[in-house]
Amino acid sequence: MKFTCLHACHPPLLLLHSRMCHTIFSPPAWRRLRSPPLSSNKRLLARAPNATTNDGRLLREGIAEFYDESSSLWEDIWGDHMHHGYYNPDSSVSVSDHRAAQVRMIEEALRFAAVSEEPTEKPERVVDVGCGIGGSSRYISQKFGAKCLGITLSPVQAQRANAIAAAQGLADQVSFQVADALEQPFPDGQFDLVWSMESGEHMPNKKKFVSELARVAAPGATIIIVTWCHRDLAPSEQSLQQWEKELLNKICNAYYLPAWCSTADYVELLQSLSLQDIKAADWSKYVAPFWPAVIRSALTWKGLTSLLRSGLKTIKGAFAMPLMIEGYKKDLIKFSIITCRKPQ
Ligand code: SAH
Repeated sequence: MKFTCLHACHPPLLLLHSRMCHTIFSPPAWRRLRSPPLSSNKRLLARAPNATTNDGRLLREGIAEFYDESSSLWEDIWGDHMHHGYYNPDSSVSVSDHRAAQVRMIEEALRFAAVSEEPTEKPERVVDVGCGIGGSSRYISQKFGAKCLGITLSPVQAQRANAIAAAQGLADQVSFQVADALEQPFPDGQFDLVWSMESGEHMPNKKKFVSELARVAAPGATIIIVTWCHRDLAPSEQSLQQWEKELLNKICNAYYLPAWCSTADYVELLQSLSLQDIKAADWSKYVAPFWPAVIRSALTWKGLTSLLRSGLKTIKGAFAMPLMIEGYKKDLIKFSIITCRKPQ
């Protein structure tokens, strides 16, 4: 996922810039240690670095540094939502209105999960796991009158998220802190909406990730995960094809990601935790205009000057963005939503 940031969830140039600086041009140690971006639950569970290994620590530090460096640039160009827009061809939202499309992503996710707006049923306590600079938390807090707690690995993001909340008079409603999604600083059963918008792709241990989402959820709570996945494997397949692995590896290098998994892997993990009403969908077609827009924004005067200020590595990093478009076009990358409910 910002202008220069071309990172997507994170998209834009800036981000891209940071990710590239940390990876292609200066590969962090965690990347040399980890396994290739492939899955099947067994592999994920067996090989993913967990939160306590050196591998996991290096990844966390890298992600934190990456967002520390890039978030203000992203905010400058794209605003406070660090995720794809939802571009429904049937909607009144113009394809060029990216802020509206990003808000629509939040609305569509809530709708897909059937989160009620009824006064007696609407969420009152929300956790935003991987909160960026708090765009989702502030929106959801205002929509439902809910209290939201956000966590991010980036101290700069947490500070900025709290500052925006204070400036908007929301300091009593929302609050942000640095914490690891894999070791959340919350007791069990705290939240009636558990929200993860484009942070799951950063998680090196998907089982631990969803276990923590389920642990902090209150009985009856809704869990919403919107994330990048690779395509589901066919029953006859043991793994992705070689060219697919190579493309994902390049994207991992460019965007600072650990191993990917499929939507079916997430569903299986949620089933293994006995969660209910599990639903999943592929929203790739609704986000298709996003990456081309990020590339266009990098090519504006503002984007280009930000890029130039950021330096040659950032410019080189921008060249990795078409890989995401290629991944979507070749049906390798899926923009997935997976939702469920914790039993009462
Ligand atoms: N959900 C936000 C930000 C998405 S960017 C939005 O839609 O605007 C990805 C976010 O995930 C960043 O804030 C990053 O710090 C966070 N993140 C990645 N790995 C994390 C981890 N292990 N624990 C907590 N946050 C994490």
